[in-house]
Amino acid sequence: MTSSHARVTGTLLERRLPASGWRTRFAPAPTGFLHLGHLVNAIHVWGIARAFGGRVLLRVEDHDLTRCKPEYEAALLDDLEWLGFLPDEASFAEFRAGATPHRQSDNSDAYARALVRLEALGRVYPCTCSRRDVLQVVGTVAPGEEPCYPGTCRRTPRPADSTRARRVHLDDEVVTFDDLRLGPQQQRPALQCGDVLVRDRFGHWTYQFGVVVDDMAQGVDVVIRGEDLLSSTGRQLLLGRLLGRQAPPLFLHHTLLVHPDGRKLSKAAADTSLRELRAGGATAAQLIGEAAQRAGLLAVPRAIPADAVADLFA
Ligand code: GLU
Repeated sequence: MTSSHARVTGTLLERRLPASGWRTRFAPAPTGFLHLGHLVNAIHVWGIARAFGGRVLLRVEDHDLTRCKPEYEAALLDDLEWLGFLPDEASFAEFRAGATPHRQSDNSDAYARALVRLEALGRVYPCTCSRRDVLQVVGTVAPGEEPCYPGTCRRTPRPADSTRARRVHLDDEVVTFDDLRLGPQQQRPALQCGDVLVRDRFGHWTYQFGVVVDDMAQGVDVVIRGEDLLSSTGRQLLLGRLLGRQAPPLFLHHTLLVHPDGRKLSKAAADTSLRELRAGGATAAQLIGEAAQRAGLLAVPRAIPADAVADLFA
């Protein structure tokens, strides 16, 4: 089962993507072992890049230092290598050798510089609100929904040294973009999430901030990721604009694999870890074929080596 039925069409991609030399990225968070859901993302990233003249950059999004582990990063490099998905930029050797700006935990200076830039615009304020404080103001939110930050600490400013947490004030506007698979989208971040947290009270940079700073600094032109991140795109476009990004990236949000009962595949459930499937005797080409079929890219499963995934999109 998949999460939605819109299809990725080769003719649309050909019309909308730059002719060649563009860059996309595979950006997993090493909070667990790669599973079939990541494989669906890799198939889209490498397949579309290979079919339409793009380059793939690898980025390790270990901004959440409480959940990410070096052993998961080592495992994801090994798994990608075994599958045959090799990045064109930020090689496995670069990650294995030590610090690299393509690993978010090594890139704090870039986020600190970006924060200074937003501070100069008068957009940044300290925020002492916990999630519970926010829920007390906005009431309960439905499962899977996010609470919209009510602006408490913007209206009643807190001393800079009261917390390390920082939010960025976003203007209330409707953000539009034309998703390469889902078509025209409209989002209103001020009502959806409110001012965006860019650093938490422990001093950790957030996903929303790191991803925008990195996509901009690393020249990512096309963001190819799962539909679960669709709702983040409007706020990321606003943050990118505040940081001075001239041309926003293009976005393609692909289908997610879900269990027959509708649950999302997760690392926590570890139900489809590529390591286990490999240990059970599956070949890389079999797993790629299975993931492609489950994502609706193939009618009937068949083995597909990584160097043939472009055929799924061309
Ligand atoms: N690191 C994110 C994840 O593993 C992906 C972020 C993105 O593609 O924007 O879900």
